[in-house]
Parts: sequence; C-alpha cells; structure tokens
Amino acid sequence: MSEVRLQVKHVSKNFGITKALKDVSFNINKGEVHALIGENGSGKSTMTNMLTGIYTLESGQFILDGKEANEEGISIIVQELGTLSGLTVAENIFLGHEDQFVHLGIKNTAAMNKKANELLQSYGFDKIKAGDMIDDYNFEDRKLVEIVKATYFNPKIVVVDETTTALSQEGREELYKQMNRVRDNGNTVIFISHDLPEILDKSDTITILRDGVYIDTVKSKDVTEDDLKK
Ligand code: ADP
Ligand code: MG
Repeated sequence: MSEVRLQVKHVSKNFGITKALKDVSFNINKGEVHALIGENGSGKSTMTNMLTGIYTLESGQFILDGKEANEEGISIIVQELGTLSGLTVAENIFLGHEDQFVHLGIKNTAAMNKKANELLQSYGFDKIKAGDMIDDYNFEDRKLVEIVKATYFNPKIVVVDETTTALSQEGREELYKQMNRVRDNGNTVIFISHDLPEILDKSDTITILRDGVYIDTVKSKDVTEDDLKK
C-alpha cells in the first residue's frame, strides 16, 4: 500500500468573482510523480501556489504527513525564470538558507561556493560555476540552477509547474532524471504539464481538474491519451 503524503481537503479559492478552485479534495502519495492536468485556467497553478505559500489559503486544508502543512519541505520550479538577477549561482541556490554559512555575523562565501560547486558537480552540471553571476547564464542553465535549488535538500514535495515547455530536450531529460531521483527517495513530485504523452510517460498518477472542480484521480498506466482528452 502506498502511503499518503499530502491530503488536499476541501480547498477553495476565489479571485474576485472567479472561482479558481471549488471544494477540491484528493490525496497524493509518497514516492510518486503525481500529475495535475486540466485546461488552462482549471486551477492547477492556484493549487500548487497555495501549497507553496505563494498564494494564501482561504478555505480548506493541506495535510502533509498527517500535520497541517507549512511551506517547509515543499519546493517549486516555476515556468518563468525562478532565479534572481544580481546574485551569484551559489547565492541563488542557498537563498533564504544562508545561515548555515554565517559564523559570528560573517558570511563565509568560500564555504558557500564550495558547497554549491559540490552540489552542481553531483548533479553533473559542472559547466555551471558557483561563484559566477547568475546573469552570465542563459535561461536553460538558470533552470538547471533552479533544479538544484529546489531538490538538493531532499524536500518532501517538489512542484514542477509547466517547466518542461521552456526546456530543450536535454534540459527536459535532466529534469526527468531529478524527478525520478526525488521519487526514488520516497518523496513526491507534483508535475504540471500540457504535454499529455509526457504526462503519461513520466507520471505514476494523474489528477484531473476542470474549471476549478476535481474530476478524478487515475493510475497513468491504466489510461490513454484519448481517455484524458474526454
Ligand atoms: P491553470 O494553472 O490550471 O492554468 P490557474 O490556477 O492559473 O489555472 O487559474 C485558475 C483561474 O484563476 C483562472 O480563471 C485564472 O484567471 C484565475 N487566477 C489565477 N491566478 C490569479 C490571480 N493572481 N489573480 C486573479 N485571477 C487569477
Ligand atoms: Mg498554470
């Protein structure tokens, strides 16, 4: 039996008169890539943005491993650029978590860069150097930095929201590899994509939303592209 990681319970969200999510409830398990699908505007990003604290949760609950979820242990890779200009690669990776490199009020940049370079090497992203300005890299390489930033600390849930559309095949393969690694560690990927063949190939479970309403949760191996288009 698979163990539940996240319970989405009666989650609703309105933007003015727009009902983006209407009383949505379903479960997401540990050790799975769980896809969220549905037409544009069906509420996928609203859901994951509330889970990661980008939007406030108004009604309903997210229960993570049996407890009310806060943002801890949850990370997100967004479609847009998710790294900050004017900072180095290492500063981007450890943004908000620099404390570990501060001693007696002084940031040990050498130690931070060393750790970041070790991480980049462990991912096989050796071409990216920790001490360089993030602005020296193109969109694709900055996405690789985001992948490291979102996964290095072994989070319980990693959200991948429409990231693959912006990537080349090579970048996609890198992302899939890391998604599998998260799953193989017993953690969870929430995977949002428009690409149905990709969804069927890379996910274990699929939840379908339509106009903010929960439709169904199915096993990827039990459905075809045609089933999902209905
Ligand atoms: P999806 O990610 O499935 O394409 P979204 O969650 O982005 O859908 O959007 C769901 C609905 O909520 C849409 O009608 C969208 O216009 C609306 N919406 C999303 N974010 C905002 C926002 N920040 N302000 C106002 N409306 C929003
Ligand atoms: Mg979206």
